[in-house]
Amino acid sequence: MLKYQFLFFLIFFYFVIFRGNIFFAEEISAGIAEYSGREIRKHWNTEIPLDQSAIKQSGIRRLESKHLILYTDLAVSKQVDELPKLFDQLIPLLCNYFELNPQNYETFQVEGFLIDDFEKFKTCGAVRQVPNLRNGYALRCRMWIRNQDSNYYRRHLLLHEGVHVFMGYAFGHWGPPWYREGTAELLGTHCLENESLTLNYFPKSRYELPGWGRIDLVRGDLAKNRLRTIKDIFELESEDYDENTSYGWSWAFAVFCENHPCYRTAFRRIAWNLNGVPSDIAERFRALLLKTVQSEQPEWNTQEITNHLDHDWLDFITNLDYDYDFERTRINYNKNAQPISTPETQFLIQADKGWQSSGIRLERGKTYCVAASGRFQLAEKPKIWYSEPNGITLRYYRGTPIGTLLATLIPDQEEHFLAKEGTAGIGFSIPQKIGLGKTWTADISGELFFRINDFPSELSDNIGNITVKITMP
Ligand SMILES: [Zn+2]
Repeated sequence: MLKYQFLFFLIFFYFVIFRGNIFFAEEISAGIAEYSGREIRKHWNTEIPLDQSAIKQSGIRRLESKHLILYTDLAVSKQVDELPKLFDQLIPLLCNYFELNPQNYETFQVEGFLIDDFEKFKTCGAVRQVPNLRNGYALRCRMWIRNQDSNYYRRHLLLHEGVHVFMGYAFGHWGPPWYREGTAELLGTHCLENESLTLNYFPKSRYELPGWGRIDLVRGDLAKNRLRTIKDIFELESEDYDENTSYGWSWAFAVFCENHPCYRTAFRRIAWNLNGVPSDIAERFRALLLKTVQSEQPEWNTQEITNHLDHDWLDFITNLDYDYDFERTRINYNKNAQPISTPETQFLIQADKGWQSSGIRLERGKTYCVAASGRFQLAEKPKIWYSEPNGITLRYYRGTPIGTLLATLIPDQEEHFLAKEGTAGIGFSIPQKIGLGKTWTADISGELFFRINDFPSELSDNIGNITVKITMP
């Protein structure tokens, strides 16, 4: 009998510890992820020892803190010499983000190389493991960083490579490029105030993080009609990261997930599920996401949740801007949206929010009259601006006066295949202009949404509502 119990235990152990991430994606805990990380670390080749006297002779300085030994040929300066102390702040913050016990990382130490003159490091054998060094490179417990003119961007690269090294050490894997670089960019984008480090920072203006420019890279692509869907991002290959725009897109997807309560947990838990086939990670993310959303909103089915993710992404990415207001732009879908059953239907649209469901479904081929009225505050500074639903022509956002009432249809699940990309009035990225009113024949059946046109960073100073009336002629 004992023999069978032992056999049962062995089979259980095999499936839960080694295959658990495949069969029970949602059951993986931080502890199991760390366990597999430790197993993988056992098979790491030991690092090639550094020739300390050659390093010294090359004029390279050695700065040491609890979690980092930094070798650099840069002259003594506060900005450079404080980097090891900054790195010491990174490790507990990463433990907190990945929900790991910081005690397990007390003795974790990285060897870093901050390089101005590459030849100097070559001479003393410190870059033997580096194939080429554009900005940064990480391998096991070592990382190499090209010096940057911007103090912000030098720190950014140090933290970015530090995230790679930490994840490799903790989990044994980094995951596919979109996740690996997305997480390193998400956590590397930081704020340093009174020497206190905050990771996962969303910049308020273009000038705040010199040298970073991720938002501008994505917007540059959008201006060239190079919008990337989530599927496109999942398919990015390592070579695609020769272009900085790929870092921008990976960051954007990570920051989108992080700032949405339905997607945050699934995105973070990918880290615990990295021990498997890397190409499988996108699927695992979807599985984790479906589980988290369905546990809180059981009314939505798998396809609907996937559709919402795609629509939310499209709304976010086409409006990506500094100081983006994630709270006010969050979209709530209405499972009970119904076709109009009375001659006239009326509802309010708030001026200080992004897309809002009307609770109404329009039906394909039917014609509707939409009329809007009301006066609302659109700006507070330098003076209070009032607007009506036809907007104010003093300022434009995405080619339309701010304050203009916009509408769009989100296709019913069975109509998704009919929804043509780029048709005005279908999807959040290409809305219809409604203004004071419009007669509208629906191209598809779907849930009707409204919002006023405004910058995604400037919703908080709006006050008031628009009254929308819908009749069927
Ligand atoms: Zn990287």
